[in-house]
Amino acid sequence: MADAHAVVVGAGIGGLSAALALHRHGWRVTVLERAAEPREVGAGLTLMANALRGLDALGLGPAVRRGGAEAPGGIRDRHGRWLSRVDGAEMIRQLGTTALGVHRTTLHRTLREALPASVLRTSAEVEHVESGPDHAEVRFRGPAGSQTLTADLVVGADGLRSRVRAQLWPRHPAPEYAGSTAWRAAIVFPDPVPAAISWGPGAEFGMVPLGDGQVYWYGAVNAPPGGHAPDELAALRERFGDWHAPIPALLAATPPGVVLRNDIHHLAVPLPSYVRGRVALLGDAAHAMTPNLGQGAGQAIEDAVVLGAVCAGGADGLPAALAAYDEQRRPRSQAIARAAFRAGRYGQQLRNPLAIAVRDSALRLTPGRAALRGMARYADWSPPAG
Ligand SMILES: Cc1cc2nc3c(=O)[nH]c(=O)nc-3n(C[C@H](O)[C@H](O)[C@H](O)COP(=O)(O)OP(=O)(O)OC[C@H]3O[C@@H](n4cnc5c(N)ncnc54)[C@H](O)[C@@H]3O)c2cc1C
Repeated sequence: MADAHAVVVGAGIGGLSAALALHRHGWRVTVLERAAEPREVGAGLTLMANALRGLDALGLGPAVRRGGAEAPGGIRDRHGRWLSRVDGAEMIRQLGTTALGVHRTTLHRTLREALPASVLRTSAEVEHVESGPDHAEVRFRGPAGSQTLTADLVVGADGLRSRVRAQLWPRHPAPEYAGSTAWRAAIVFPDPVPAAISWGPGAEFGMVPLGDGQVYWYGAVNAPPGGHAPDELAALRERFGDWHAPIPALLAATPPGVVLRNDIHHLAVPLPSYVRGRVALLGDAAHAMTPNLGQGAGQAIEDAVVLGAVCAGGADGLPAALAAYDEQRRPRSQAIARAAFRAGRYGQQLRNPLAIAVRDSALRLTPGRAALRGMARYADWSPPAG
């Protein structure tokens, strides 16, 4: 292959996965990241079978599995009664793997270390992207001032507030507030904790073991956007302190200052394409979704693996390759984004007591296997052959 060059904008999980996928297919890759330090903010993640298979395709499945903990999952009410529980062995039988709880830092570091160090340029904020018929140009501001790179392919992996998306789809509506705010933290908690989410009226608390005596927890509630408490941890204890064990203990074990709070936004209006000329969008830049199915990073990894596969031939025939990328990725990722939003409405955001009673009874009556089949609709994905 002639020296095909890709510039990836953003070194999040999506951008690093894309860089690795392209690098493994022989591309020369430059990743431009505006942050001074390459790091991943935001505690833990659940990776479903699809994400793990994607990481297997990138050669990182074993390393990531070693750094995480099995997290098959289930749903409880705020008193701790199980409404639905996934059997780990059955999950392995149906999907070939259980879900995995992993610290974001572990996943990010594993991806970074798989790339040559020279690929990543930090303190490099992309200001402008333009696509021509044969190449694309990226202007960025780095430590040495403004610079322009020319590439065969530009990958916009710059997240929810993607500048690449805004420039190439200027009239597309911005992401919208989804109605909930979420707090999260990864903490040391030596007692065993099952992976589970718990629902109360308009609220959800999730806990995920990360291995090595660490637990990731998050709490989400319906709220107006832009809220902040002077002491977020105290606000959380107020809200979840009388929920079932070990929720109060998890909050008690959380040091002040490690709690992150984010309003949940999503790209409510799906994009008409993930590709414009020689620029492809990926991850949250393409399909920012609510976290209710635990699929945002998983979809970014899938995007990256497919992008690498369709671009395996190098820069020749790139328009057709990118059309194939759009065709393979857009319907699935947008369907999952819609499903995640619906799952939030039916789960965390539901407030009406009658609707909650009906939902909870329906869940209790659903056999575990059927619940797993529902989950498998999104998690049962395999990388393209070859
Ligand atoms: C509360 C919560 C819980 C979640 N839980 C899960 C889960 O359990 N499982 C799961 O799969 N997903 C989960 N997600 C979703 C997941 O975090 C995201 O979908 C995923 O991290 C997106 O990765 P990304 O690389 O596309 O974007 P980002 O992680 O946003 O990365 C974008 C990168 O681009 C950089 N950047 C931005 N603009 C520029 C610029 N102009 N120039 C250069 N660099 C730039 C940023 O600094 C950043 O490093 C959750 C999300 C939330 C909010």
